[in-house]
Amino acid sequence: MSAVTAYREWHRALRTFKLSADLHPCDWCGDWAARWCYDGSRATAEQGSGAFVFVEDSSAYMPLCDSCAGTFTAARRRLSYAELADAVPELARAARDNVSAFTRADVLIDTAKRREYAAAAQMTRLGKAPQAAIRATDALLRHAYSN
Ligand SMILES: [Zn+2]
Repeated sequence: MSAVTAYREWHRALRTFKLSADLHPCDWCGDWAARWCYDGSRATAEQGSGAFVFVEDSSAYMPLCDSCAGTFTAARRRLSYAELADAVPELARAARDNVSAFTRADVLIDTAKRREYAAAAQMTRLGKAPQAAIRATDALLRHAYSN
């Protein structure tokens, strides 16, 4: 299997474990996330290379929006992992300052609803959720969205 194929297969598995990144708020700024980013914290477990580095550890991934992912990727290219760990809090704070508290709260509430729905749909696909639980979740979601 090529490194790129392995990378893609891992990211597909990651979405199964943690759902799609766009069902989460961005870890840095709190706006909608767009992708899962490896945080650089498992240097000894890395596979692949360049833009296709990955680790088979879902806890080493954070959901980021496109803007924050771009900032993070640029920082990862020019800094060592130790320097990166030092730089991230300030980069994240700057990103957070660009998003209003209202937007962050809105995204947080909406992502929670979307995640619940996606998890129920995923369980249905896997055939693990009883129909009664699915109907109850649907009813809750309809109620939540009707407000
Ligand atoms: Zn962001």
